Amino acid sequence: MKSDLPPVLVSACLAGCQCRYDGGANPVPAIRDLVVRGKAIPVCPERLGGLPVPRPPAEIQGGDGRDVLQGQARVVNNEGVDVTPAFIAGARATLEVARRHGTLIAILKERSPSCGSTAIYDGSFRGQTRPGQGVTAALLHSQGIKLFNEETWKKQAPCL
Ligand code: SF4
Repeated sequence: MKSDLPPVLVSACLAGCQCRYDGGANPVPAIRDLVVRGKAIPVCPERLGGLPVPRPPAEIQGGDGRDVLQGQARVVNNEGVDVTPAFIAGARATLEVARRHGTLIAILKERSPSCGSTAIYDGSFRGQTRPGQGVTAALLHSQGIKLFNEETWKKQAPCL
């Protein structure tokens, strides 16, 4: 039977898409299953923002995604290139997808500078994290979309 619930947005790499900066994925079988059953839509904000695969890894420096959206921090790759415009474009494109489908919930890859919902890498490129949201997560959250990550979604959103 078809559910009336609007589809959930999921980070495409969690559904098995090879869209990570290094050409890999972070597949979670239960999240992939949501996509297969038509309950979730996979999106990769960095690809929607025009970045290629592979691409140099990037981290937020000077704040988190909320600060980036307010022009008070930037996203820089490990070659020193400012990729903030692509990250903001990807966040806006992702919000557009969410609006088109009436999405109320997103399950996003933790620690990503786009998708992290409670933690992100700290900008040092040393594998250290800090509390905060990625650029897309911050924009979705600001528009009332409820965020989960791949580690906690089953406990917190068990009815999907
Ligand atoms: Fe995955 Fe999000 Fe990074 Fe795309 S931007 S590879 S969906 S964590």
